[in-house]
Amino acid sequence: MIKNKSNYKDVKFFLIPFVVLFMLFGILTYFNVQTRINEILKITEESTVTIADSYADALLNSKEASAIVTHLLDEKILVASKAVLLLDDTISNLSLIDLAERFQVDQINLYNAQGEIIYSSEKQYIGWQAYEGHPVNDFIKSNKDTLVEDIRQDTENKKFYKYGYVKRRDNTFVQIGVLAENIHSFTSKLEIQQIIEKIITKDDIKQVFFIDQNFKIIASTTPEQDGILIENPSIRDSIENMQTDVERRTINGEEQLNSYAPVFYNNEWLGTLFFVWDADLYESDIQNIIFYGVFELLLLMLVIGAILNFAYKKNQSNIKIAYYDTLTELPNAAYLDEYLSEVVKKCKKQKVAILLINCTNFKTLNITYGFKYGDMILKQIANSVKNEIPSDNMFFRFNADRFVLVVEDYKDQEALLSLAQKLIDVFRNPFDGGIRHEYVNVEIAVFEVQSCNIKVDKILQDATLALNNINSSFHEQIIFFDQNMEVDVRKKDIIETTIRAIISGEDKKSFHLEYQPKLDMKANRIMGFEALARMNIDSLGFISPPEFIELAEKRSIIYELGNHIMKEAFGFISALKNNGYEDLTVAVNLSAIQLLRDEFIDDVNELIKEAGIQPSMLEFEITESILLDNFEIINNKLNDIKKLGIAIALDDFGTGYSSFARLRELKVDTVKIDQYFISKISELDNRDLLTADIISMSHKLGLHVVAEGVEKREHKEYLDEYQCDILQGYLISKPLKYDKALEFLSVFK
Ligand code: C2E
Ligand code: CA
Ligand code: CA
Repeated sequence: MIKNKSNYKDVKFFLIPFVVLFMLFGILTYFNVQTRINEILKITEESTVTIADSYADALLNSKEASAIVTHLLDEKILVASKAVLLLDDTISNLSLIDLAERFQVDQINLYNAQGEIIYSSEKQYIGWQAYEGHPVNDFIKSNKDTLVEDIRQDTENKKFYKYGYVKRRDNTFVQIGVLAENIHSFTSKLEIQQIIEKIITKDDIKQVFFIDQNFKIIASTTPEQDGILIENPSIRDSIENMQTDVERRTINGEEQLNSYAPVFYNNEWLGTLFFVWDADLYESDIQNIIFYGVFELLLLMLVIGAILNFAYKKNQSNIKIAYYDTLTELPNAAYLDEYLSEVVKKCKKQKVAILLINCTNFKTLNITYGFKYGDMILKQIANSVKNEIPSDNMFFRFNADRFVLVVEDYKDQEALLSLAQKLIDVFRNPFDGGIRHEYVNVEIAVFEVQSCNIKVDKILQDATLALNNINSSFHEQIIFFDQNMEVDVRKKDIIETTIRAIISGEDKKSFHLEYQPKLDMKANRIMGFEALARMNIDSLGFISPPEFIELAEKRSIIYELGNHIMKEAFGFISALKNNGYEDLTVAVNLSAIQLLRDEFIDDVNELIKEAGIQPSMLEFEITESILLDNFEIINNKLNDIKKLGIAIALDDFGTGYSSFARLRELKVDTVKIDQYFISKISELDNRDLLTADIISMSHKLGLHVVAEGVEKREHKEYLDEYQCDILQGYLISKPLKYDKALEFLSVFK
């Protein structure tokens, strides 16, 4: 779970691109290195071709030349031999010496038919006899007339000669010998071996071989390898391909770079030049390429890493700004939203709840001592709570003076309650405000997540709703959200909408006034009515006046509703007047908010005029409680109202805080003793009742006294005895609809 915003997924966001880039550039570097290695191979191949081209010609020349030389030599030997034959009878050792000089050959021997040397340019050979197995004997045995042998060692003087033979008609024959070293001196500079040795003087080439069609090394820079047959199948393949080629291969654990160049003569493949390049040189090149490749890659990654690291740090600080509260360093509402939505998804596996903690006196604190002071206290609150809660519970600053604790995997409601109690205890001690110790009042709403699909917003909304249901007058501090609270909110919304429709005139059926008659005890006649509001909404049924009046006050529509009520009540007054009851009064209940509005008196005047009624038939009832905060203002207003000729009654007398001392100053005509004191009449002994005292004290102040909630005969008797002026209650009549109220008057007469 994302317990720390700055450590979690963001690292991944930067690591992944880094790894991807690393891989990407790694692959690029790899290919780059590979390309450059291939370039080296290519250069090697080109060099091979160039070298092969330049030496192939020489090679071919040598091949050709030695063929020609051999041919000329053969010719020469034969010509010399034939010249000897021409000597015929004049043959002598001397003439042979002469001929040898003339033809530039090294030896001339004349054999008899049995193979014995009869004449020779080298007189020590005279008398030498060819024996079985000797090449001379082989010639005698062959029926050939002429023969030129390949170079061989002379059996006598051990020198190498090329010998040729020509037979005469009498089977005697001439042998001509040319010293091989002379032939060599003639052809040696053209030999393959020499060419190869020239090639090796090239810096980078270590070894050169000339390999023939049968994979036999016929010439090489390492003569000990001459004549060896190439066995390596891959080398054989390359040779057989007859194409210029470069290959890297490991032979006997050693890296080698080989190249091939086939040599052709008259379109006939003579063999292949095989080069072994200096691997060290080439290896060090490759190593350099790899080294620089890797170096470049690392440098690049270092730069990218630095950039990403910078971006990461920047992001971290952005996260801090976005997800953490700068003052308390607690995670904030945005974080709460993300976190909670994650946690809620897992609600099938573990229980999830939130504790919404509200500091109730913070506004006053800020206003009184300044926001800096408030901030200082908030910081302490954050720290104290953090120290108190289990570390795996996330604690957020939700808004100004509200905190949220997310509780996961708890046992039951009991556990939540004790956790909430623990938090309340944190606030039992005062916080250090520097100038003074500060007590912070808190209330906690507990919301248990029941559905894994619930939106975070809904959770917070419901928790807030629960907070609103805390009854602070009973010092309640912890409340669990329950579904009814939501029902209640919905109900209130419907009531509000209905009230608005009533005010605008759209809704004519949900609202009306009822009129409760009031009995004048002395005259025993109905002296007036109290107008009481009634609301009946189709979907909700009957709504009690205190409920919708309070709601209208809270939602700031009481003034308009009050005007609507007056209009309807004034209509009733007008009807009374029209029916000849001009001496009756109708009391209308007022809310403090109505009274406090500047335009109230003007509006009342206007409505009176519109209805065409006398103010003397109108009375306003105000409750004691509204006097509490605004005594002076209210009292001035009451004075203005009285000046219009409207009477004023103080409602619910005895329940509030007003004293008789205050009552003296107050501009009222009547007090209405609260039902509570009337209901006590039947319960308590007469001696313990205050009711009689209230009546007599009020009379002393010159006020009329109305008793409310008179339900029983004994109430009436008691009130009669203590001279209460007016009675109101079910005993006389329940509140009545317009028609019934008028009807009641005619019947009561
Ligand atoms: P309230 O002004 O003290 O009104 C008297 C309440 O006592 C009325 O309740 C009435 O129906 C009830 N009542 C009358 N006789 C008896 C009785 O013998 N026994 C009992 N148990 N009750 C009796 P209701 O109509 O429910 O009104 C309650 C409160 O709602 C009123 O208390 C008044 O404060 C407020 N209210 C009613 N109508 C209006 C209105 O038009 N404007 C304003 N601002 N407040 C109103
Ligand atoms: Ca009243
Ligand atoms: Ca009352």
